[in-house]
Amino acid sequence: MENCLFCKIVAGDIPSAKVYEDELVYLFEDIAPTAPIHYLCIPKELISKLDEIDETNSAVIAHIYEVIAKLAKDLDLKDGFRVVTNCGENAGQSVFHIHFHLLAGRPLQWPAG
Ligand code: 5GP
Repeated sequence: MENCLFCKIVAGDIPSAKVYEDELVYLFEDIAPTAPIHYLCIPKELISKLDEIDETNSAVIAHIYEVIAKLAKDLDLKDGFRVVTNCGENAGQSVFHIHFHLLAGRPLQWPAG
């Protein structure tokens, strides 16, 4: 956990542009955005990868989706948005603290590649 980049962001040891925070989750702007809106949504407690989700930690994942749904309404993202989680190196995961990319503000291609 000491070497986890996103744990350091949650702790405030590395600066970030906060979008939303509560006792369970932290949302902030991606440092290299690929869309006009590109936020990272993370649990404060470290879960490294999506395949580590189980019955002991899944409540925070449900909460993240509740927060995203409310934010999408608040930001009026009625034209659409995408939520992406890369799991593992072949999928492009580069930070091993689970995160949900929230992408919006332009047409998004599919399949992602
Ligand atoms: P992944 O490739 O693991 O799915 O996504 C990691 C994301 O974290 C990338 O989109 C990358 O731009 C972002 N990122 C990496 N380092 C930092 C950082 O120090 N601050 C912020 N805000 N985003 C970061």
